[in-house]
Amino acid sequence: MKELIVATKNEGKVREFRQMFEKYGIAVKSLLDIEDIEDIEETGTTFSENATIKAETISEKFQIAVIADDSGLEVDALNGEPGVYSARYAGLEKNDTKNLEKVLEKLEGVPDHERTARFVCAIAVARPGETTFVKKGYCEGHIARKPQGENGFGYDPIFVPKGETRTLAEHGAAEKNAISHRHHAIVQLEDWLKEQA
Ligand code: IMP
Repeated sequence: MKELIVATKNEGKVREFRQMFEKYGIAVKSLLDIEDIEDIEETGTTFSENATIKAETISEKFQIAVIADDSGLEVDALNGEPGVYSARYAGLEKNDTKNLEKVLEKLEGVPDHERTARFVCAIAVARPGETTFVKKGYCEGHIARKPQGENGFGYDPIFVPKGETRTLAEHGAAEKNAISHRHHAIVQLEDWLKEQA
């Protein structure tokens, strides 16, 4: 089975890439499998820039093709926050519970129809000697009043996809992987993924 490196230490992302790449016959290796990789500083101002920085840093280091995902939640009533700061919204410790509690606190008193939000995912593919390309996917929805569900990761317990009543954390893995921002970005990589397998 062909193996691809996904430049992340986020276990939730690794799990979803594994599940979604399986049908292409591609095994996923992440930075959790490689010792002594320092955290890559995300100095970009957009998801695409940060995905590119992560993919190119690891691709240059190992001289192989690397995929990186930069993703996050944009809440309209918070002018797009937490955005590229999603992982560290409530502090550098990157605590999912504290992050989603901060969003809920900031949205206190905001009525349901103004709680619109979306997940955004930018996936960069970097290869030695070739130009990096980026694909973006979105998942529209709204922010719930309180956390619900145990599945997924990050802001899933407070995000209700459009047309749904359940949060993403109340969706099964396969259900989330059929509608998520990550899925919509990966679908655009299909031709390239098939060439790799
Ligand atoms: P990154 O590792 O800098 O791209 O940070 C991504 C952050 O966005 C994660 O730590 C989560 O807080 C959030 N996020 C991204 N994708 C998802 C998802 O599928 N569900 C819930 N939260 C997500």
